[in-house]
Amino acid sequence: MIRCETVSVMGQTDYTKYTKFQELLKTLFPAIFGACKVEIFHGSILMHWAGEHPEKTPVLFMNHQDVVPASGEWEHAPFSGDITDDKIWGRGTLDDKGGLWAMLRAADELAAEGFVPDCDIWFESACAEEINGNHGEGADEISQILEKRGIRFAFVLDEGGMIVTEPLPGAKGSYAMIGVGEKGTADLRFVAKGRGGHASTPPKDTPLVRLGKFMAECDENKIFTVEMNPAVAEMFRRVSTAGMDGMMKRVLGKPDVYKLLLEGVMNRTSPEGAAMLRTTLAFTMAQGSEGHNVLPQEAWVLGNMRFSHHQGFEDSLEAVRKLAEKYDIETEVITQGFPSPVTSYKCLGFRMVEQAVKEIFPGVTPSPYIMNGASDARFMSRVSDNCLRFAPFAISKEQMRSIHGPNENLDLETLAPAVDFYRWLMMHVG
Ligand SMILES: [Zn+2]
Repeated sequence: MIRCETVSVMGQTDYTKYTKFQELLKTLFPAIFGACKVEIFHGSILMHWAGEHPEKTPVLFMNHQDVVPASGEWEHAPFSGDITDDKIWGRGTLDDKGGLWAMLRAADELAAEGFVPDCDIWFESACAEEINGNHGEGADEISQILEKRGIRFAFVLDEGGMIVTEPLPGAKGSYAMIGVGEKGTADLRFVAKGRGGHASTPPKDTPLVRLGKFMAECDENKIFTVEMNPAVAEMFRRVSTAGMDGMMKRVLGKPDVYKLLLEGVMNRTSPEGAAMLRTTLAFTMAQGSEGHNVLPQEAWVLGNMRFSHHQGFEDSLEAVRKLAEKYDIETEVITQGFPSPVTSYKCLGFRMVEQAVKEIFPGVTPSPYIMNGASDARFMSRVSDNCLRFAPFAISKEQMRSIHGPNENLDLETLAPAVDFYRWLMMHVG
């Protein structure tokens, strides 16, 4: 599966690489492909496994087929699928062919054993997750097809959080991070204009200086409001119970009471934790003048904004626009996405995933959280109130960094429990 180079490229409409990949899946998992009604939409697959009780609300499992390009220096060629030192190497091992393999392997084993699920089970595997999922052929399109057919799911389980140690600084133990929502994404361009001229006689506050001051003020984290989402509060509480002691246990144990104190701690120690409390703005691209001795008449920086559920796109945009105006900078919206709804961690689907974690990974604490990145699951809010994001793999911090980076790899020993996790769920839904 790793050797199939299913790299998704914006604007590409050549689906033959997915056709080849799907032929491979059929040979690897013949029992489940035989047991399901299989539909292909462009490069994306939709599979329907009929259960004993078609009148019951079905569930949907999903993992995408496409991967991001593999640049940088790799220890093992990115599409080698090399197996060494108890690891499998290559682009897509973690994101997300490992999950796709475990999901289909579990279903294939069960189908081969003659197992029939209690309710209908659907599988979806899209080919455009890495290019926003909405280029006419991905999860966006499939969710609309399902919606038109009137199909609703009791819950949806997509890739997402994984099993990690120390999700927050000082938190002892292992946690299964189950994403219950994701923030929205937007790209903003900030443009500063000036008179230009020769660099030998610079006036004060040239465009780049104003952009610099503006970015420095953004960096102080004071422009966006801080709120404690119930799911994030629950994450802090669970981490405090399972892995903290002393003062931090008290602060994390009462996240609503110590909201501002907690924000200060997260700002200093955990960019991930801090990002769950508010909108973030990251500066990613910039341009000045064309020459080393030329003052720019126009300079710009690009900011990638991840807006929080409580502040939303319009409010977050307004807050940053106001600050930009202070430095005589114009704000342009380049792209605008949307945040997903937040699934309750008390819903049946969450409790089932939680139970599966407890059964298969003893000693691991399941916890809800809000994803700072985006996944295909957000489209499925059209067809389910309960969209969950979790991949049942234990990974290290180094492996976490390898997602979308060089040397992506997965421990072999985490594959079998992942299959057991999916098996448990498929045997208990309904
Ligand atoms: Zn992914």
